[in-house]
Amino acid sequence: MTGILDGKKTARDIRAQLRERVHRCLGAGKRSPFLAVILVGNDPASRLYVGHKEKACREVGIASETYEFPEKTDEEQILKLVRKLNQDDTVDGILVQLPLPAHICRTRVISAIEACKDVDGLTPVNQGMLAMGLPSLRPCTPVGILELLRKYSIRLDGQLAAVIGRSHLVGSPLCRLLSLHNATVINIHRRSPSPESLCRQADIVIAAAGQRHLVTESWVREGAVVVDVGIHRTSDGHLTGDVDFSLVSKKTAWITPVPGGVGPMTIASLLSNCLMAFGERAEKDETQSPLK
Ligand code: NAD
Repeated sequence: MTGILDGKKTARDIRAQLRERVHRCLGAGKRSPFLAVILVGNDPASRLYVGHKEKACREVGIASETYEFPEKTDEEQILKLVRKLNQDDTVDGILVQLPLPAHICRTRVISAIEACKDVDGLTPVNQGMLAMGLPSLRPCTPVGILELLRKYSIRLDGQLAAVIGRSHLVGSPLCRLLSLHNATVINIHRRSPSPESLCRQADIVIAAAGQRHLVTESWVREGAVVVDVGIHRTSDGHLTGDVDFSLVSKKTAWITPVPGGVGPMTIASLLSNCLMAFGERAEKDETQSPLK
């Protein structure tokens, strides 16, 4: 029998803990943490994700505001807002919803965010800190996955992990985090030879390729742990992942469902990063206060 790595329940528990922390801060006379979200264009999936993030913020007591721009907005306008939010002491976190329209340079916009407000962990500074194994704001999906594995006591130390995909958002930071937890990591990408047989060797398989049902039962060894990051909407409106759940789950010890696996954990990590950014800024303010 395979076990389900229930991201929905785990994320709910995390949100309850975060809500308590926010309430304690408010009780101590502090303001609410504040997240600024920038949304450019009309991508329906992006709109949906931003809606989920706003709802989750409300639930734990994080204030948020979404700054919406039409598709044709020029890059300088977005950069101007990022600089303004960087300067604003009441803003703790800045999130630019991806993807951006093709005429806007994602790297330039993301790099403009102050590292201490980069709650998606995507700026070169935070990606570099992670590469060096230093504490920083880390990308939400990889952090959420590690937290989910931790909650279910899945051992990483000494295990062989295969990660499919090497984006800055998911695959690459995930490889680094797994390695920091003493897993041996195989990073599979489009040019990897025999991805199927590489995956079959692994104790833990994490699929973040963005290819619907890429991973089938022949990719996974008996008793493996499988984490599915992919999100795809089927023609009948259902969500499915990079893993063919119905076939693969017959062989696994543990597997994440889609939906209800990695998605809710990503949002829980975003909230947690917001509180981390809020806490560090509040601490800095206190130590820099002339009254101290
Ligand atoms: P991306 O397109 O930026 O990166 C995909 C990576 O997979 C690339 O490195 C690419 O080389 C690799 N790849 C593609 N096809 C491959 C193949 N056939 N074999 C091996 N490698 C292959 O995507 P991303 O932003 O990293 O997201 C990946 C998937 O995860 C998408 O489906 C996305 O929607 C989903 N996602 C889910 C969450 C969540 O919270 N559940 C969060 C972020 C992304």
